[in-house]
Amino acid sequence: MSEAAGGSEAGVNEWGDGTRCAHAGLPAPVPGQPFLPGPVFAAPYHLDPVAGPAAAPDGYGRPDNASRRRLEEAIGSLEAGSCLAFASGQAAITALLLTLLNPGDTVLLPSDGYYLVRAFAAGTLERIGVRVLTAPTAGPYPPLAGVTLVLLESPANPGLDVADLAALSAAAHAAGALVAVDNTTATPLGQRPLDLGADVVVASGTKALTGHSDLLLGYLATRDGELLSRVRQWRNQTGAVPGAFDAWLAHRSLATLDLRLARQSANAAALARSLAARPDVAGLRWPGLTGDPAHEVAARQMRRLPGIVSFDLGSAERVGRFLTASRLIFAATSFGGVHTSADRRAQWGDEVTGGFLRLSCGIEDTPDLVADINGALDRA
Ligand SMILES: *Cc1c(COP(=O)(O)O)cnc(C)c1O
Repeated sequence: MSEAAGGSEAGVNEWGDGTRCAHAGLPAPVPGQPFLPGPVFAAPYHLDPVAGPAAAPDGYGRPDNASRRRLEEAIGSLEAGSCLAFASGQAAITALLLTLLNPGDTVLLPSDGYYLVRAFAAGTLERIGVRVLTAPTAGPYPPLAGVTLVLLESPANPGLDVADLAALSAAAHAAGALVAVDNTTATPLGQRPLDLGADVVVASGTKALTGHSDLLLGYLATRDGELLSRVRQWRNQTGAVPGAFDAWLAHRSLATLDLRLARQSANAAALARSLAARPDVAGLRWPGLTGDPAHEVAARQMRRLPGIVSFDLGSAERVGRFLTASRLIFAATSFGGVHTSADRRAQWGDEVTGGFLRLSCGIEDTPDLVADINGALDRA
């Protein structure tokens, strides 16, 4: 049995998303103790004066923290793998890339995924002699012979294209490559890449996973014990661990992931349908729309759809008027939070048009949100 309270392993697997989120990573009930014990704040811990670190599991905070271990148990149970938490999504992704890739290796990255991963590849990976290839998430993909690692991001941020994870994992494995999937946008409730054939999941927990716009977090999950211990060693040697309070806050937030995603996704569905009817909105993308280029793969592969839509308002000026006119949308980068927010991605260097907007639906009431956004578009 995992540490999750109150059930056999079979029971855990049979539970629905809401049950699994509410109970993920909780210790077994102990009378007089809280459901989720508070954050353990420690750099060094007391050592046995004679036996030293051999006598107790926790000796020093970089490798050892109970709040972080409970969070890892929780996220691991949702991804169906073993998890390592990091200080941010970038810390997790760069840990994976630098653990796996050696000079002379080739990595394939999404050309339309999170921009800092490409920047890191161009700046650091190429400098140490790793060959960097890119392909758009929707394809076409180059031949994979000679590729060491394929990193996929699906749905891709910010364009929301979807990669066929099972088919690409099979093709990569046939060519001898490992497959990593950035699961940030989907979250483990949206899809479980390890079940679809991927070797490892990396993600930012800063976004919908924790959803309150109040912390940075990253994680890696895998069923490959050797890979896990190599990355654990990397993390201990480089030190990008989340603090105890952030780990605890993240764990506390996970309990409502199912509820938050349900409202965010319903809001995105209503908003996408409403925006699709407007002649002044171009390039609308949401994988749940039947006409969307990603719809067919998303419907087959995803258990639920993200609360994010993207569209083009034609110019940076119109985006500015739209965001100013809205009472509910916060202009902010990041996404997946309980508050609706929108980000004009060109201002961060994404290769998109000046009027391209990524809009992340929060948990506001659907009629309020749809009315606010349509009113703001009318005024913009
Ligand atoms: C935000 C994001 C990251 C980076 O995560 P941080 O927690 O900000 O470091 C990586 N991948 C995707 C898809 C993201 O959206």
